Amino acid sequence: MPGGVKTDVRTYQMYINGDWVDSKSNKTFPVYDPAAEETIAQVPDSNADDVNRAVAAARAAFDDGAWPATTAQERGRILFRLADKIRQNAAMLAELEARNCGKPIVEAEFDINDTATCFEYYGGLATKVLGYVNPVPDNAMSLTLKEPIGVAGQIIPWNYPLLMAAWKLAPALAAGCTCILKPAEQTPLTALEMAKWFADVGLPPGVVNVITGFGETAGAPLVQHPDVNKIAFTGSAAVGKIIVKQAADTVKRVTLELGGKSPNIFFADADFEAAIDGALFGVFINQGEVCSAGSRILVQKPIYKKFVDAMTAKAAKIKLGAPLDRDTKMGPLVSKEQYDRVRSYQEVGKKEAKLAFGGGRAASFAKGYYVEPTIFYDVDNSARIAREEIFGPVATVIPFNDEKDAMKIANDSPYGLAAAVWTRDIFKAFRVVKALRAGIVWVNHMQPTYVEAPWGGYKQSGFGRELGPWGIEEYLETKQVHINLSEQPIGWY
Ligand code: ADP
Ligand code: MG
Repeated sequence: MPGGVKTDVRTYQMYINGDWVDSKSNKTFPVYDPAAEETIAQVPDSNADDVNRAVAAARAAFDDGAWPATTAQERGRILFRLADKIRQNAAMLAELEARNCGKPIVEAEFDINDTATCFEYYGGLATKVLGYVNPVPDNAMSLTLKEPIGVAGQIIPWNYPLLMAAWKLAPALAAGCTCILKPAEQTPLTALEMAKWFADVGLPPGVVNVITGFGETAGAPLVQHPDVNKIAFTGSAAVGKIIVKQAADTVKRVTLELGGKSPNIFFADADFEAAIDGALFGVFINQGEVCSAGSRILVQKPIYKKFVDAMTAKAAKIKLGAPLDRDTKMGPLVSKEQYDRVRSYQEVGKKEAKLAFGGGRAASFAKGYYVEPTIFYDVDNSARIAREEIFGPVATVIPFNDEKDAMKIANDSPYGLAAAVWTRDIFKAFRVVKALRAGIVWVNHMQPTYVEAPWGGYKQSGFGRELGPWGIEEYLETKQVHINLSEQPIGWY
């Protein structure tokens, strides 16, 4: 069944062992357009039986299928060919992503470009995995070899669906692993579209399997499966904790990219106009559905009042609209569930702090999970809205006195994914960079990140690093080889 789409009502199949298949139970579940509040597709509802089938395929492909015999050069070429397909079909993918997530089309286009770039980066890196010669004493040669970990289960979220798939698949395939990818139940469509090209670009059957399903019924069996060697997860902190516990029984390698409550810190000497843009962009990009959202905006007291006023004035101009409208800067949230969660935090915030802007549903839309960009100020860092990840367009503005005060507030969080600092004082900037406990620190910017540089969290934001050479390392085992060079018998007994 080429393409996996059975009819034009868009019932998808999923991709296991190079075949398009239904779930063994034949059950499907709906996928929505959150702006229209309409079903746009049905996808297979997998359970442990389907996971077993996908793991068996990935296991066979790794152990004795075509993959072990595929050279690093060829793996690299496959990734380049996949990137080409993504670029050739970028408009279709961006439109589907925007429709399914609710994100503005212009942002979706950036995501698709980044997706292709990620496959290209790891296509190049496939041939640059090096071992070592270890300087051991005489009569021996000691080598360190890097080998693929094996079968990787990859569980991803709904905020950057295809890009997160690339962050997982590209380094794993470059390393020589085989994969079972489980997209988020809200947003499986672009990964299924991409899977249509897997055979064409030269991926042998079983090397990448895409299974659709829910976390507890499809994700959990993948995490628990004894034939899966590694789990790579991006998602909520709550599920991350469950995954670590469930992976313990089989001592799986685990990497986790969880949430954040990232501080975006503005000193009084910062370029004011750039700072206001940076504060808004940091927290409202992608409707705030970003793990590194700059959701705690720390502002030094001399500019605090003016800052809140300027943010408020500019937030009022943010254009909410249909995801496919090129002028739209903010679309609906991804789902009813997410909408309800963000709405409830807006209400919590009204009790905990002062409201400068927003605070409710975006009233001008008859349909769709639209919420207003929301700014709370005079927020205490101990408030729930300052401690808990909201994953929506809700900013908390917190005043501070001096550098020491700012660092204390910034680091007082269970999370440590990202942080940013705005100042024109280079000495202060570097002191702050060193003091912040976070996996990425921006200076005079927030959010841009590149495939060449590492991504991941401190503290409860997770462990392991994605992207760059760090990303492929997480899919490699390290083997020591000891070669005896002495022709003498050991002569011990
Ligand atoms: P959200 O709270 O936004 O739904 P999640 O962390 O629940 O974010 O979801 C991220 C990914 O984790 C999704 O692919 C989801 O299906 C998966 N997931 C959720 N619960 C589990 C679980 N218990 N085991 C494995 N995967 C899960
Ligand atoms: Mg969930």
